[in-house]
Amino acid sequence: MKGRCECGKVKFSVETVRETVTICHCSQCRRTSGHLWASTHAPFADLRFETDQGLEWYASSSFAKRGFCKYCGSSLFYRMTDEDGIGIAAGCLENTGGLRIGKEIFRDDKGSYY
Ligand SMILES: [Zn+2]
Ligand SMILES: [Zn+2]
Repeated sequence: MKGRCECGKVKFSVETVRETVTICHCSQCRRTSGHLWASTHAPFADLRFETDQGLEWYASSSFAKRGFCKYCGSSLFYRMTDEDGIGIAAGCLENTGGLRIGKEIFRDDKGSYY
């Protein structure tokens, strides 16, 4: 499975990802994504970067960071500091045929427009 940011300065592949996508409605995810955060998951060690030239990390809290492309602004990753895995934005994957929404979290924080 391949993924990339909008401009292509972050490109990676990963053998398999979790087939369920988690939707997060928390205010932080809504801001960084522009709407809501939808991600699957994989062991970080399984990611192979064709290029990570644009990859930048933002410490979004004391326990987690968010990966984005510094050239085009695409939100790509979410990773807890102490975890071996990484959340991968479903929207940056090229073939999402096997994926489905598994759960939604922080629904009480969702925007009132949807
Ligand atoms: Zn980019
Ligand atoms: Zn969130």
